[in-house]
Amino acid sequence: MSSLVGVAAVQGDFVKHIEALQRCGAAAVEVRSPEDLATVDGLIIPGGESTTVGLLMERYGLGAAIRERAGQGMPIWGTCMGMILLAREIEDKEQYRLNLLDITVRRNAFGAQVNSFEDEVSMPSLGIQVVGVFIRAPIVTRLGEGVEELARYGDHVVAVRQGSIMGTSFHPELTEDTRLHELFLSWVRERS
Ligand code: GLN
Repeated sequence: MSSLVGVAAVQGDFVKHIEALQRCGAAAVEVRSPEDLATVDGLIIPGGESTTVGLLMERYGLGAAIRERAGQGMPIWGTCMGMILLAREIEDKEQYRLNLLDITVRRNAFGAQVNSFEDEVSMPSLGIQVVGVFIRAPIVTRLGEGVEELARYGDHVVAVRQGSIMGTSFHPELTEDTRLHELFLSWVRERS
């Protein structure tokens, strides 16, 4: 059976992820409700505004449904806002989060002066180097046990993995490079 990947489409740059998945030859759909989520084998949570999306995920039951599927082993990848929503803790904020990655994140960590930039990011444990597009990006300031560091930019951890849940501060869907989408798809195919 072929697997289907969902992209959370509450708000944010979900279309770019759908296009990247399609470039990999994968079937991808927008996920807005628990019913949509029930049809997919893996989920990407895109960039966007974490306060707004968290509020809506909580209100419409999508957050609870995501937590339930994650408990059953569904692979999830959060980019930027997506990683913020997956975190256990968000520094100085009490906003809704999914608590599926045992990390603490700092939102907008590169400050107002440097809102957006791109630069090479190496991912040693994956053996690849990618172009990291950072847009008001978060960093990871604490990694719990069982959380693997996948990338660092300067002194900051900018990509992590815990089992089949991954978070990246940057936006691979905004580049032509689909290697991280391919990696995620391999986890989804393994489990479905
Ligand atoms: N700064 C945004 C937030 O904290 C995330 C930015 C992004 O996803 N590009 O929600």
